[in-house]
Amino acid sequence: MTIDRRTLRWNGWGSREQAFEFGEHAEDIWAWLGEALDIEDFEPRLATALDDLALPEPTLDADARAALVDIVGAEWVRADAYERAFHARGRSYRDLLLLRAGDVGSAPDVVVYPRADEVQAVLAWAAATGVAVVPYGGGTSVVGGVSGERGDGQAGLVTLDTTRMDRLLELDEASHTATFEAGIYGPQLERTLDARGFTLGHYPQSFEYSTLGGWIAARGAGQQSCRYGKAEDWLVAAKLATPRGVWRTESFPASAAGPDLRQLVAGSEGALGVITEATVKLHLTPSARDYRGFIFPDFEHGVAAVRELLQSEVLISTVRLSDPTETSFFAEFAQARKPPSRTRRFAGRALEAMGFGAQRCVLIVGHEGERAAVEVARARTGAIIRRERGMPLGRGAGDSWYRDRFALPYIRDPLLDRGVGVDTLETSTSWSNLHRLHRAVRDAISTAAAASARRGRAMVLAHVSHAYLDGASLYFTIIFPQAEPGAELEQWRAIKVAASDAIAEHGGTISHHHGVGSDHLPWLAADKGGLGVRLLGAIKRELDPTGIMNPGKLVPKP
Ligand SMILES: Cc1cc2nc3c(=O)[nH]c(=O)nc-3n(C[C@H](O)[C@H](O)[C@H](O)COP(=O)(O)OP(=O)(O)OC[C@H]3O[C@@H](n4cnc5c(N)ncnc54)[C@H](O)[C@@H]3O)c2cc1C
Repeated sequence: MTIDRRTLRWNGWGSREQAFEFGEHAEDIWAWLGEALDIEDFEPRLATALDDLALPEPTLDADARAALVDIVGAEWVRADAYERAFHARGRSYRDLLLLRAGDVGSAPDVVVYPRADEVQAVLAWAAATGVAVVPYGGGTSVVGGVSGERGDGQAGLVTLDTTRMDRLLELDEASHTATFEAGIYGPQLERTLDARGFTLGHYPQSFEYSTLGGWIAARGAGQQSCRYGKAEDWLVAAKLATPRGVWRTESFPASAAGPDLRQLVAGSEGALGVITEATVKLHLTPSARDYRGFIFPDFEHGVAAVRELLQSEVLISTVRLSDPTETSFFAEFAQARKPPSRTRRFAGRALEAMGFGAQRCVLIVGHEGERAAVEVARARTGAIIRRERGMPLGRGAGDSWYRDRFALPYIRDPLLDRGVGVDTLETSTSWSNLHRLHRAVRDAISTAAAASARRGRAMVLAHVSHAYLDGASLYFTIIFPQAEPGAELEQWRAIKVAASDAIAEHGGTISHHHGVGSDHLPWLAADKGGLGVRLLGAIKRELDPTGIMNPGKLVPKP
């Protein structure tokens, strides 16, 4: 285990040693944000302290704990307040609201940290005694994927923390694959590969605190997904412990032996079993990385350029196209953090004069690979962007995005401390439907946020960040003054329902990369159809006949 869990915030983001750097202009930033949200002041909202938490009485008795101690050893069966609170929920806005309010829901009775060869025994014990098991990697789920929930009549709830399973088992240099235990954290995995000249290239924004098993189980996407693929693309094989016994998937580069069952593991969300090992595809560590910014007169031209980049099959690792609201939000945020020099103010006015006005959009494009290939890709990118009336902003914009790419999540805690909510949600659709979906979801969120607002106004930002031949994802960030104390959850629900309904009605998936968990379950049938959801239920019943695996997530409870 490379990260000591006790160094992390149990009710916020990341390491307790780290915080968002507001810099010397912190007061100006808060003043600007207040104006942007149209509120006169911030309302301090304190989070409940760990010592003041009322944790539910554990329901597992001493015999049950002794059985777990027999399997994993006394040191790895933990039930102190920190462990139970840390593992009670994930890190969505809803989770943070509840944790900060001291609501740990059905916190686990105990947390176990098995080695890979002990997981099967834990599941066999849980199945025999009717105890719910929640697999927990980094706990960064934003869809309620790790919240403690038990099925009807289940005798207790154990969270199975995977992070002691963190070894590299094999690196096949000829095949460019590696097999890891699934609880390895992102940074340790990439350090291990880098020492051998390889990369997996999966860098979600939560990279520092999420695990290989969690990436696969949530069917996640890294920021360089255009080059390295989503979890379902790079997964070669998996080994799972299930209540029915060990399941090893196929591991061939390609096969016509019926449907590919690995695709059941990618997105299985702990509801089918615990992924203990995974084999993944590797790439050579890129010798060149090039990230740059571009500006477009409007979102339509930006989207057209991204579509052309993908459909012309240019070597792209990252695209991130902000819509006009997100573009102006980040420009103003940057200005508040570092007031611009006279030259930069002049450059801003010059941009407007050149036709990059209020509707302008910023695009970050990244290329990774061999130097020569990156150069070719850059030239092709430049030509496509010019055709769509885009203009280069240079390397500075790309480099600063790359430098800060894991820093932004730290800003959520200080916002919550001041009564400002931040939630995110995402979807994907075809190119031909992208603008319609963007407008529908943005408008639905704005209307719901306005209806539930007590004061001020919400900001709804969006960007395109994962793109394909046939379509792309849309990622929305909502920043809003919170409702009065006690009504925050209702406000969240109103916005979430409006956004999810709009997604389902306008041809988007309920999730491009966050997963289903419990939050998206009501909309799953819109993606899969009724028969599809029943099929998923039948697969779960085969692997987990008594429903002990992560109850209430991905598959509706019976
Ligand atoms: C600030 C922030 C930024 C994020 N950015 C991204 C992003 O860029 N891209 C992205 O894809 N996601 C992102 N996420 C969501 C989240 O980080 C991902 O879903 C990630 O893949 C979860 O990994 P984890 O190890 O934290 O898993 P957890 O949160 O612990 O678990 C996620 C789900 O997988 C299951 N699970 C975990 N490990 C196993 C296992 N070994 N076997 C079986 N089931 C298991 C859990 O039961 C749960 O259902 C972000 C989240 C936050 C809070």
